[in-house]
Order: sequence, then C-alpha cells, then structure tokens
Amino acid sequence: MASPFSGALQLTDLDDFIGPSQDCIKPVKVDKRLGSGVAKIHIEDDGSYFQVGHDGGTRKLEKAKISLDDCLACSGCVTSAETVLITQQSHEELRKVLDANKTVAPGQQRLVVISVSPQSRASLAARFQLNPTDTARKLTTFFKKLGAHYVFDTAFSRNFSLLESQREFVRRFRGQADSKQALPVLTSACPGWICYAEKTHGTLLIPHLSTARSPQQVMGSLVKDFFAQQQRLTPDKIYHVTVMPCYDKKLEASRPDFFSQEHQTRDVDCVVTTGEVFKLLQEEGVLLSELEPTPLDSLCSSGSAQEPTSHQGGGSGGYLEHVFRHAAQELFGVHVTEVTYRPLRNKDFQEVTLEREGQVLLHFAMAYGFRNIQNLVQKLKRGRCPYHYVEVMACPAGCLNGGGQLKAPDTADKELLQHVERLYSMVRTEVPEDVPGVQELYKCWLQGEGSEQAGRLLHTSYHAVEKATSGLSIRW
Ligand code: SF4
Repeated sequence: MASPFSGALQLTDLDDFIGPSQDCIKPVKVDKRLGSGVAKIHIEDDGSYFQVGHDGGTRKLEKAKISLDDCLACSGCVTSAETVLITQQSHEELRKVLDANKTVAPGQQRLVVISVSPQSRASLAARFQLNPTDTARKLTTFFKKLGAHYVFDTAFSRNFSLLESQREFVRRFRGQADSKQALPVLTSACPGWICYAEKTHGTLLIPHLSTARSPQQVMGSLVKDFFAQQQRLTPDKIYHVTVMPCYDKKLEASRPDFFSQEHQTRDVDCVVTTGEVFKLLQEEGVLLSELEPTPLDSLCSSGSAQEPTSHQGGGSGGYLEHVFRHAAQELFGVHVTEVTYRPLRNKDFQEVTLEREGQVLLHFAMAYGFRNIQNLVQKLKRGRCPYHYVEVMACPAGCLNGGGQLKAPDTADKELLQHVERLYSMVRTEVPEDVPGVQELYKCWLQGEGSEQAGRLLHTSYHAVEKATSGLSIRW
C-alpha cells in the first residue's frame, strides 16, 4: 500500500529522526554528511526510507534498533519490552483477578472497579450497531456478569481534568510576565505525546506541559483514594481497570508517578483497550446487543451517573474548547457561544482566536498526529510559537482514532471514524462546573479548589529523559 506520506519530509534538526507512516513512526538513522540544516527523507511505497542530498543523490537509510527507552508509545509498533508491559496489563490479567475472586470468600476478594472511556464506548457502539447509552449499560451488565463490582464512566473524572486545566491556564496566563515558559500551555492528557516530549525535547517542552492529570489518572485518584475511603478499604484491595482507546494508556498507568509506595499499588492496575474488550466478549460468546441494560454506577451520592455523559469539543476530551471558553470569560469577560476553528495545514492542525477590535486576545490551536506535533515543536524551538494554548494529541484525528479502537474489515477507515464520531457526539454533554457531585467532591474529598490535596491527587509532573551519550545515540 502506498504510504500517505510518500514524498519529501523536511527535518530541521539532524539529531532527530522521524519517518511517519500511516501506522507507525519508524526510526531511521539520518546521515549528517548528506547535507546540513535540513534533511529530506523520501519514503518509498514499499516502506523503505531514502535520504535525499543537496545534489539530488539518494542514500537508503538504515533502520535503527529501538528499545523501550526509545519507544514513543505511538501505538504503531510494539517493542519486546513493551510487550512484557502490555502482557502485565491485559484482559488476561483482568480475567485472572476475576477468577481468583471466585475461589475465595467474599470478604477476601479484591473489589473490581472498571472505568470505561467515552471513546471506547463509541467504538463498541459502532461495532454492535447500538446507541452509546445502550452500549454503556450493556457493557455494565457484561462486566458485572464477569464479576466486576462497579462500573464507572471516565467522563466523570474528565470533569476534574478539565476544571484543573482551565484554572491552570488562567493562572499561567496571568503570570506570563514573570515566566517566559508560562505560555504556551500544552495539554498532557495524551501519553503518546508525553512520552515523545520527555524523550525528545524534555527541557524545552516539559515546562509548557499542563500538570493536570488525564481523565484516566484522575479516575485512578478517585477510585484508589476517595472511593477506597468510602468502601473502608485500603487502595491495594481494589483492582482498578480502565477501558481505553489506545495502548499508550497502559504506559501512562505504569508511570512511577501513579504508584503508591505505601500501599504497593497503582492508581490504575490494568488498562484494557477497546479491542481487548471485544476479544473478551468473543471469548465469552456474548453479543453485546443481546444483553439487558444495567445503569452505570455513581461515585458519589449526588452524582447523576446512571447514564453516560460527555463534553463538548470533540473526541479527545474537549480541552481546547473548555479552556478557551473559561479563559475568555475569566480573563476578558467575554461569553463565547460558539468556538470557530480555522484549519491551517490540514484538518488536524487548526486554530481558534478570540479577538476584540482587531486585537488577538487568545490564540489557541489543536495539533494532532506527529506530523503536526513536529511542526509545533519546531515553532517552539525557534521561539516562534504564536499560541497561548495547544491541545496536542499523538493520533491523527485524535482519540476516537486511537490504536486500540476497533477496526471494521468491511468499512473504510475514514467512514468508520466518521460513524464513531457521530455516535460519540450523540451523548448528552455537561459543563464540568455544573456536574452534580463535582463541587461536593472538591469540598469533602479535596478540601477545596487549589488545596494541597487537590494538587497531589489531580496533578502530576514530568521527567526529561537524558539523551544517550554512547552507541548509536539515537533518541526520539
Ligand atoms: Fe491515546 Fe488519544 Fe493519545 Fe491517541 S491521541 S495515543 S488515543 S491518548
């Protein structure tokens, strides 16, 4: 199949190397002798890479060997070390825990909690020709029949992630005179992008990353801290599983930042992809459409749950839109009724502005896929990034197109994605500030907005990975 990226790619930093294809990014070693400043790489239809010199001569590029340290977690390729990690976090592991629970007395069982992402729900809805609400309810039935005790919707934890992102942006915007690195703020909910940022340009990018935890990891805090207290259990007595649209979320859950030394447990014990849930259904011989619906569980007494919810602003969480609306109101007293996107190089790189009397007050962008991420990074490197905030996602078209989502053999990828997008947007959206239970949890669990507790449980930090000094010296 011809690569959609056939043609010349321009690299402006020869310490870097890329070679994106539709499915994955292949590391190749760029020959610095063939030119300086800019390297052009030509990708042949058979997937081989050629570097084009200034004189037009070409040289076939060697593939570089990569280990987990080099892995960008783009979901496209899986290294052997990553395979080990993925095996530790798979539907087989979930099954082992559920089976083990069946062999012990109820008091000795681990409480199994499953948190399902809205993106996975939409993908399964498309496959089973259901609406997303029925899908969520039938999935709840399925997981409970398997032995899960509670099934939650990660749209609930996303409320906290969005609210913390909004407040963080306003604080950093107001503090921009004191710190050159306050802006732009770059979103951090995508672990594929975070992995790339830490491994390629840690010193440059990390100060710009939003510290707000992703919905998956906020759910980790909610389940292993708040919910554990409610259930009068220590966090290690809960086995928390999330259902996510990509493999990268397994890497995110495995970060040491989300591991409790005290209780020797992770906030999220196991991440299964949408595809793995489908496999589980097949292994059990269950047709989701034929199951009776069961309401979703709610994390707190005043929470609505019962039916799934979502947020405005697209299939990757709506960070840009929520932060934009909030910032327009808080910083400039402007109520934004509609957010208008302006496409730039392609539909995965768009911008949004707030203007008054010809002056740009807010300049936001979304950059999806590594082609656009690379462009964004180059702008930052040159000190020519005009944005205040960028929603960055590693997958082209965002999370609904994640590497763990279901493919349909008889439907074109684009058609399927559009269908999944339609289903995703059918769910009732909520404004995080108004969601029942959210303010109550800020008060009773987090001891108020901006508290030490909120900082510890809703935020995280990032770590630059040193470049190798020996060997091939090839790093993302
Ligand atoms: Fe996962 Fe979404 Fe990032 Fe893709 S864009 S790697 S689905 S978090």
